[in-house]
Amino acid sequence: MSVTRWTGLLFRVPIKFKLTLWSTVLIMVLLIGNYALQYLVMDKWIIHREKSGVQRTMNGILNDLLEREAAFTPDRIKEIKLYLEKANRDDQMIRIVGSDGVPLVTVANDVTENGIVPRFVSQQQIEFYRIDDNPVLIMRSPLTIFEFAGTVEIVKSLAAYEQLLHTIMQVMLAFAAGAVVFSVLVGWLIARKLLKPLQAMAQTIRDVNSKGIQERMIPAHNGDELSTLMILFNDMMDKVEESFWQQGRFVEDASHELRTPIAIIEGHLSLLHRWGKDDAEVLNNSLQASLQEFGRLKGLVTELLALTRAEKEAGDPDALLTRPDEAIRAMTERFMSLHPGFAVTFDLDELAGVELLVSAPHLEQLLHIILDNAVKYSSREKTIVVRAGQLERKAFIVVEDRGIGIPAGDLPYVTERFYRVDKARSRDLGGNGLGLAIAKRLVERYEGKLTIQSREHRGTAVTIYLLRSADGRRLGETLS
Ligand code: ADP
Repeated sequence: MSVTRWTGLLFRVPIKFKLTLWSTVLIMVLLIGNYALQYLVMDKWIIHREKSGVQRTMNGILNDLLEREAAFTPDRIKEIKLYLEKANRDDQMIRIVGSDGVPLVTVANDVTENGIVPRFVSQQQIEFYRIDDNPVLIMRSPLTIFEFAGTVEIVKSLAAYEQLLHTIMQVMLAFAAGAVVFSVLVGWLIARKLLKPLQAMAQTIRDVNSKGIQERMIPAHNGDELSTLMILFNDMMDKVEESFWQQGRFVEDASHELRTPIAIIEGHLSLLHRWGKDDAEVLNNSLQASLQEFGRLKGLVTELLALTRAEKEAGDPDALLTRPDEAIRAMTERFMSLHPGFAVTFDLDELAGVELLVSAPHLEQLLHIILDNAVKYSSREKTIVVRAGQLERKAFIVVEDRGIGIPAGDLPYVTERFYRVDKARSRDLGGNGLGLAIAKRLVERYEGKLTIQSREHRGTAVTIYLLRSADGRRLGETLS
């Protein structure tokens, strides 16, 4: 198998295995590093200790022999041997070699002379040898007493120490193997525990796919990243579900609204089909009624389109309306010219030097919706006031009428799609219950807001708040 196939396989392995593998490798590397360091330190330390031990023994022997003025005559050799036996330690041999390289005295504790060649030296030296696979440390030092010249040799066997290191190494290896097994087990358990929430999340997503969008995750609420992710996912699903139902309701409402004019037109057409063709009056009445319903249909479709656009599209980022006071006045007058029975008063001076972050066509659409309502829902007192002002970073425009007002119970709902206080009356006046819904969404696109105050039989005031351009900044820049 090629390397790329191997790496490909490794990447496809479940995270559980990867986590276990990585944690085990990491623990192994740390353990091996630690043990190797310990081993080296121990090795160096023991050698150093042995060397200084041998050096101390050597110094002691040299001093004693000098003090005793030892002569290596046959009768004194025995005495020297006795002394050296006392001075000797375990696993050690002491040998005094003459200038001809022949050993004169040898004492040994668990060390054999075999293979250790006696040597005469003129300078102190320390060497490390391996004799018959046994490690030995040999120190040689020259000894001169009167006319005698020789060498003191101390041979220290390091076999015991090597055995100790060997045992330590075996113990370490056993521990390392145990630690690896333990780390695989613990790594596996931890990985399983950590990944359980992820598996639960994957299962919930599968359930959403198969059972529906009402499925939710069960977060642990312990504040960790996974539980935060689950809470965020649930919130998102709540919104998706809400918008899903809203969308469904919208389609139902829209179909319902479209059905009425279609049914009326259908009724008139079948009437004509049966009897009306030859009856001029029936023909005329039915055609007129049908045309009226077509007009209503057209209006409804136009409003539905406007609503979808207002919901989807963002506010024009380059929009900047200078002299809004003049623009509002002109727009209002243009609209009110179609309703000559109304008296309109303006108070827009506060907006004279202000720049508004809204496009002129959108502001006109907004005013159109609000003024249309003011006209439609006015009764005897046909007075409309259009005034404006500023509040912090926003400017506001208020359209007030003295009409029938909105009952307090209905007020919170009038900006919902298709909501009408008096359905029959609104329909007669050509309303579909979409105007304020469009207006609200349109204002929100420009980071503004729409509020309504109303008292039944007294009148209604609709206020739109829009951002003012601060230091020539545009919509996108003010959002951040
Ligand atoms: P419509 O097209 O039916 O007027 P809107 O969304 O514009 O729909 O308004 C929703 C409902 O709010 C209206 O049906 C009406 O009952 C009420 N409404 C809106 N504006 C006014 C107003 N100025 N005075 C009284 N009632 C109003």
